[in-house]
Amino acid sequence: MRVELLTVGDELLLGDTVNGNAAWLGRRLADHGLEVTRSVVVGDHLDVIIEAVTSALGRADAVITTGGLGPTYDDLTRDALAAAAGVALVRDPDLERRLRDRVARAGRELRPMALRMADVPEGAKVLRNSAGSAPGLRVELPGGIVYALPGVPHEMRTIMDEAVLPELADLGARPVVARRTLRTVGMWESDVATRLAEVEAMDDVRLAYLPEPAQVKIRITVTGPGAAARLADAEARVRDLLGPVVYGTGNESLDRVVHRLLAERGATVATAESLTGGLIGAELTAMPGSSVAFGGGLVTYATEAKERLLGVPADLLAEHGAVHPDVAAAMAAGARDALDATYGLAVTGVAGPDPQDGRPVGTIFIGLAGPGELSIVIAPRLPVPGTGIEVRDVIRRMTVVHALELLRR
Ligand code: ATP
Ligand code: MG
Repeated sequence: MRVELLTVGDELLLGDTVNGNAAWLGRRLADHGLEVTRSVVVGDHLDVIIEAVTSALGRADAVITTGGLGPTYDDLTRDALAAAAGVALVRDPDLERRLRDRVARAGRELRPMALRMADVPEGAKVLRNSAGSAPGLRVELPGGIVYALPGVPHEMRTIMDEAVLPELADLGARPVVARRTLRTVGMWESDVATRLAEVEAMDDVRLAYLPEPAQVKIRITVTGPGAAARLADAEARVRDLLGPVVYGTGNESLDRVVHRLLAERGATVATAESLTGGLIGAELTAMPGSSVAFGGGLVTYATEAKERLLGVPADLLAEHGAVHPDVAAAMAAGARDALDATYGLAVTGVAGPDPQDGRPVGTIFIGLAGPGELSIVIAPRLPVPGTGIEVRDVIRRMTVVHALELLRR
């Protein structure tokens, strides 16, 4: 069963609206083992929509459209479907009555234009919209079925889940697809891919790499009979080959994993941040219930603040400047003690775009002070991605990831 998506609207082409509908539909269909083979965006032009629907059905068994079902004259999907089917639009009395009721209940006056939403291509099935006014439509054409859904995201989702997915799952003698995403930290995309060459060579196994600063997500897709069992084999192989850089699956982000591990150890952490200016604290408070393991943090940006708030020795700062391994260690211990936490996690470094104290952009020291006197420092030596302000952004984001990773290990 091949499904194509057709999202309609000038606003999508102009970049005013991000095409969240296509993203959501692609994921939803994949979760149900249905493969989207193509996704097309068109503007509000009758002939273009007709052509797009017709050519999509030349390739696929079903097309899902979103947008263009509203009351205004730039909403043309209904008209396009009638034209593609070679039928007239007819007013559905039941839909008309519901529309009138809805408008009356809201104490508004019905505009003639609104009645367009009660028009359906002759022979089409109405897909009720429990979330709004414009119904969805199911139209059978010679090449296959078109499911037309409204553009408003929550209405589109409601009709998709209530009416379209159950039918598609029945129709498509479910292709066997199994998927899983593994998350890795601290390895380059090309290094990950090189190491996984033998997994990519496995039959009917596809790997996709989704890079983010200092992280790579690996999506494993297995098709064919016994997909679920073979996915488990492929995943085990990936984990063997990559070792501990794999920290989670699916939506399990690094901060969640860190919180879970801290909770398991009954431990807490406090932070001291220089170049990240609180981003690590933001990450560690993203999840509800974060206070169990995160007590707080200090943003000590100026050198003096490191001395005053964290007790970093003045002679250390005078001798080496703020970007030094011993400073990172002292900051970590200072944060731990100030907040009476099990661990202190600290970062200092040069986010750029200019060097500082003779140290190049991307020089980062991360300190972790544990219970007692133990403190470790790593210097991940971040690569400098391009020039200008984005350098700062990427380096700061990479620093957050490396700091959380030090805590995880
Ligand atoms: P309505 O019945 O509410 O008028 P419609 O079918 O006419 O719906 P549109 O007018 O095309 O839909 O879009 C309504 C709103 O939904 C837009 O303002 C836009 O913000 C949002 N929207 C439309 N298409 C998309 C899309 N592909 N992704 C995300 N949002 C979208
Ligand atoms: Mg529109």
